Amino acid sequence: ASYKRIAQTEPAVQAFITLNEEGARKQAAELDKQLQEGGERGLLFGLPAGIKDNIVTEGLTTTCASQFLRNYDPIYDATVTKKLKAAQTVTIGKLNMDEFAMGGSNENSSFYATRNPWNTEYVPGGSSGGSAASVAAGQVYFSLGSDTGGSIRQPAAYCGIVGLKPTYGLVSRFGLVAFASSLDQIGPLTKNVEDSAYVLQAIAGYDSMDSTSANVEIPDYTSALTGDVKGLRIGVPKEYLGQGIDPKVKEAVLAALRVYESLGATWEEVSMPHTEYAVATYYLLASSEASSNLARFDGVRYGVRADNPDNLIDLYRRSRSEGFGQEVKRRIMLGTYALSSGYYDAYYLKAQKVRTLIKRDFDQAFEKFDVLIGPTAPTPAFRIGEQVGDPLTMYLNDILTIPVSLAGVPAVSIPCGLADGLPVGLQIIGKSFDESTVLRAAHAFE
Ligand code: GLN
Repeated sequence: ASYKRIAQTEPAVQAFITLNEEGARKQAAELDKQLQEGGERGLLFGLPAGIKDNIVTEGLTTTCASQFLRNYDPIYDATVTKKLKAAQTVTIGKLNMDEFAMGGSNENSSFYATRNPWNTEYVPGGSSGGSAASVAAGQVYFSLGSDTGGSIRQPAAYCGIVGLKPTYGLVSRFGLVAFASSLDQIGPLTKNVEDSAYVLQAIAGYDSMDSTSANVEIPDYTSALTGDVKGLRIGVPKEYLGQGIDPKVKEAVLAALRVYESLGATWEEVSMPHTEYAVATYYLLASSEASSNLARFDGVRYGVRADNPDNLIDLYRRSRSEGFGQEVKRRIMLGTYALSSGYYDAYYLKAQKVRTLIKRDFDQAFEKFDVLIGPTAPTPAFRIGEQVGDPLTMYLNDILTIPVSLAGVPAVSIPCGLADGLPVGLQIIGKSFDESTVLRAAHAFE
């Protein structure tokens, strides 16, 4: 059924980079056989899953939507890939994204741009745009994405589905091709909150292969979905509903807050004074980390290699010039500059200090509130091509998701209505490792 749906919708949506039809049929047959032989059903038994193409899958091409890795067949599975297999899902294919997860519209994929199933003239968001569009188009039951500055939540918002960025450290990053290691987190994109809780259950947990993996107890996420939010204290950061927010988005968020009131929750405005510095801080830190992480792509160890190099330096230079797209090169240059001696203190170190101040805004708000609520993005999806020549405008789309990433706390985006026929996302932010409360609040609204 999944592949049938893909055959119908994929020409218009273009969510996948690689399909795994033969492999998926084998996986399904194997699961069937195990069941016949009296085996137990796994948590996600038989569910068709899509995986973002920056999460490695053994024997299944993993490109990061980059020409550099167009021929890269990993020899191992990411921890999350292994965990999905253990939960007995079926891997339908690998999903399109902005190259190396750098972008917010999918237009930075070096293959083609995925389109928004609600209106194919609009972007699906990014960088996990393929992951969001595929779920919204009914091609897969759920998908995995990665979120560094909003890449799960923003495309979920644009495509009208549920996208959860877990607390930094809750889900292993082993086998996730690194963009900015201090920010990257893998999480589920699903049709509803209950599904999100199930997928999180399957992928969360300590992993000795990831040095930043948190050794915390994993609660039963679905048992948190009680429907009860009586007495829940909601903070609404006033900076998240101010300048630059589309009035229709603001209206949808205020309507959602009234729903929470009717369910017995209370809300109050709170100030997050360092919000205005978040975008600049993020683009310095994320680009710095990216410039270091992407140094491994040298034409020797992974992916493509330039033909007939004159010498080693020529090999490096031409492999990187030919392999990376424009946005990736821009980030490498920004990051290399910010980390270079003489500028390090002024840019990188300063940004680290501001990151701490942003984190403190959250710590202070959570002394008083159980969750924070605001929009996921300032506007609904925009038209393909509309912002592509203007990286600064593109960067500003992330203003509401980036502070959360810098603080490392969990947040979910759930649909909260339409503006001009396109979905609006409501962002619910929680305390570190308190995914249960985030999911409970999200589920009560559905
Ligand atoms: N849009 C943001 C960026 O371009 C976030 C990307 C992400 O979360 N991977 O960096």
